[in-house]
Amino acid sequence: MNLTGLHFLLTYRCTSECDHCFVWGSPNQQGVFTLERIEQVLDQARELGTIEWVFFEGGEPFLFHPILVRGVHAAAARSFQVGVVTNGYWATTAADARAWLEPLAGQLNSLSVSTDELHYEERVSSEAHHVLEASKALGIPADMILCDLPDGVGSAPRRGEPVEGGPIMYRGRAAVKLAAKAPATAWNTFDECPHEELDDPGRMHLDPLGNLHLCQGIIVGNLFERPLKEIVRGYKPKQHPIVGPLLKGGPAELVRHYGIAHADAYADACHLCYSSRVALRPRFGDVLGPGQMYGEGLA
Ligand code: SF4
Repeated sequence: MNLTGLHFLLTYRCTSECDHCFVWGSPNQQGVFTLERIEQVLDQARELGTIEWVFFEGGEPFLFHPILVRGVHAAAARSFQVGVVTNGYWATTAADARAWLEPLAGQLNSLSVSTDELHYEERVSSEAHHVLEASKALGIPADMILCDLPDGVGSAPRRGEPVEGGPIMYRGRAAVKLAAKAPATAWNTFDECPHEELDDPGRMHLDPLGNLHLCQGIIVGNLFERPLKEIVRGYKPKQHPIVGPLLKGGPAELVRHYGIAHADAYADACHLCYSSRVALRPRFGDVLGPGQMYGEGLA
């Protein structure tokens, strides 16, 4: 496995509960990385030898600003390229945004601000403008992430130059809240995972409980129990109870393999995949979790 990107979910907690959130971010979510754990994981990442990029995201990482700042510095000190993803809630004005960002100047290689009608009332929020203005003044490379609305909700003219975003993927809260508004396609056409390199992932997400996620909610190991190096070396995708069927024939094969009850049509491959995984959680709770990723107690 050539793992080059590690994405810290610094916290599951967020200021918002966006309908399109993969990880069920919410003010009511639980789980935050400690500084000690961040340092341990960064050391493991160095030892692995292939990680180039470390990202801090969430949830909303700026909710724990001192921890975020120390984490970014710790990653930069270990010579990783460092990125942060935020919703920019803290950027009241460009001057205030600068105060939040100054401790990160010279340490960050990428700052992405999520902004769209699902985060704010306008497609490009005033907060996003403030983040970009302050970043420019501080020499921090910054961009925006904009998601398209599902069909039926309406659409707005796009402004700015997104580097990510685009169509919504219907997993996490998006599968529950938005999928019904999108056009549906026959379930058995979803015969591959269109988004993740499941057999040879280049990046993975790590949550505050130590879970390493191949895709949000599909766990391949726990870094608080086994070192990253061991998990990566021991990764046998075909033997993983969820990844194996997904590799063989996508979410449709997951349904067939386990005889899961299903609807006739789904919004996209992730919608079928996520819905199937929800049905499989009682059987495979060790690799389909944690509850935070499936909106336990929040839906
Ligand atoms: S199909 Fe499943 S594994 Fe692939 S990106 Fe979508 S939710 Fe993740």
